[in-house]
Amino acid sequence: MNSSLYNATVIGKIMVTPDLMILRIDSDEPRKEFEAGQHTLLGLYGFEQRSPNSEPESHPAAPDSLIQRPYSIASSTAETRQLEFYIQQVKSGQLTSRLFNLNTGDRVFVGKKISGRFRLDETPDGSDIVMVATGTGIAPYISFLRSHIIERPESKMVVIQGAAHRWDLGYYSELTFLEKSFANFFYVPTLTDADDRWDGYRSLIEELLQQDILQNEYNITPDPERTHFFVTGKPDMVAHVSEWLHDFGYSRNSLEEPGELYVEEF
Ligand SMILES: Cc1cc2nc3c(=O)[nH]c(=O)nc-3n(C[C@H](O)[C@H](O)[C@H](O)COP(=O)(O)OP(=O)(O)OC[C@H]3O[C@@H](n4cnc5c(N)ncnc54)[C@H](O)[C@@H]3O)c2cc1C
Repeated sequence: MNSSLYNATVIGKIMVTPDLMILRIDSDEPRKEFEAGQHTLLGLYGFEQRSPNSEPESHPAAPDSLIQRPYSIASSTAETRQLEFYIQQVKSGQLTSRLFNLNTGDRVFVGKKISGRFRLDETPDGSDIVMVATGTGIAPYISFLRSHIIERPESKMVVIQGAAHRWDLGYYSELTFLEKSFANFFYVPTLTDADDRWDGYRSLIEELLQQDILQNEYNITPDPERTHFFVTGKPDMVAHVSEWLHDFGYSRNSLEEPGELYVEEF
């Protein structure tokens, strides 16, 4: 079969759970410089095997078509050739079921263009940054932190990560380590279905925000003049957090109008 559009090699695959993985690729050519928070395309042909852990496709892919989807880059902007992605398997999906069948050394397509407006560099220096995520929405924040935390000691930076179980908290160790290492960084994981050994938060993200956790625990004001919010993940969480922020005067950042609320919809 013709796989002529493949232009990168898998160099790492870490299974966080059977349906969540960190995938590292080495592209044949370095990409242009990019900004933390941006995304690019990954692709595989329809003839590739689907993972044993997948379910029948809702729309079967044509064998000779290159299935392409966008993925946020989790790695630092310092590296333009080796890129890291954090991917959830949609069991009946076309691309993720095939990505989950990849192994180290396999070939894959990676887009030449890296784009997106979900970017930390658009926020003013010194502003506080709140990053809210469920699921793989944490990926762009890992790139923010790996790329820029050292340069922004004057900004308070908070990651609020929501998940069902402890094992769904990808990057937990790295985020916990960053919290111990940087006085201006705070990590707030919250679980909705935690076991007895979990001593952290157990509320939905929107409930934590409504309980004024930012103001009370971290002295961060939801004030568009001082604090910028990034929100990505489950659509209902994104909608609830956005509504809460609108009441404080936040407006959504877009190409047409700058705003202090950045939303990435997966
Ligand atoms: C800017 C951007 C950045 C993205 N970054 C990431 C990322 O970092 N990591 C990541 O895993 N995904 C990311 N996505 C989503 C990704 O592009 C694909 O949509 C996703 O991986 C599903 O692709 P698929 O081909 O397997 O499923 P498809 O065959 O495209 O979809 C099958 C069905 O599943 C539904 N579906 C899609 N995603 C999900 C989901 N997560 N849970 C349940 N149902 C779903 C679709 O609506 C569709 O009906 C991003 C999307 C965008 C637009």
